[in-house]
Amino acid sequence: MRLTLLGVNGPFPAAGGGTSAYCIEAAGERLQFDFGSGALGALTALCPPEQLTALLMTHWHFDHCADLLPLTYRLQAAAACLSMFGPEDAASPVRAVMAADPSVALTVVAPGDCLSFGGVHVWVYQARHPVPSVMYRVEAEGRTLCYTGDTNTVDGLVTFAQGADLLLADGLFTRALWDEKKPHLSAALCAEAAKEAHVRRLVLTHLNPMIDPALLLAEAREIFPDTELAVKGQVYTV
Ligand SMILES: [Zn+2]
Ligand SMILES: [Zn+2]
Repeated sequence: MRLTLLGVNGPFPAAGGGTSAYCIEAAGERLQFDFGSGALGALTALCPPEQLTALLMTHWHFDHCADLLPLTYRLQAAAACLSMFGPEDAASPVRAVMAADPSVALTVVAPGDCLSFGGVHVWVYQARHPVPSVMYRVEAEGRTLCYTGDTNTVDGLVTFAQGADLLLADGLFTRALWDEKKPHLSAALCAEAAKEAHVRRLVLTHLNPMIDPALLLAEAREIFPDTELAVKGQVYTV
């Protein structure tokens, strides 16, 4: 399984950066997770976007879906129809555009669902965020990759990540900035979940350009040494 980090910031990009967008290639399939600002150009450098197997959205905040809008122009130009999956969210204007666009086939997902794309199986888990949000656990080729999307602490987080080869987690906050009511985990909480779930490797993502990444990494590594910071363009073999 191959993971390419197309955008690792949130809720806005760093200079030259991009917000949440991750491409996974496995078993001959190519799945795109979230599609934030900068994602379309970055994905096009990897493959023609209309050749994706599917695009899976964790939720409909703009930092995860901004580049869906120009993507529809690309799909229309290619006379393609792309399979897209994401949670229901009646308040999202971008979701409404996608639901109405003939170049997109949008399917609702909910926690408990399992989606199969050839030899790639994706389980959907509940996240805890101010809008309807899910987490995705991807299994293929005997490997497991878990992506939290945006979430704070949530029941089932450790079960979700159990035994993963790679946990890609929303570690936006430092210990000092985090509290129970915020929309994101802290790097330290991601590390605690990684440790408890016996994951092999933790990658902290959704990096806020105004929060010191070195502090996030230090706070996480104190608990779970096999932690890395997401870097745009980085490719992992899982
Ligand atoms: Zn976000
Ligand atoms: Zn969000």
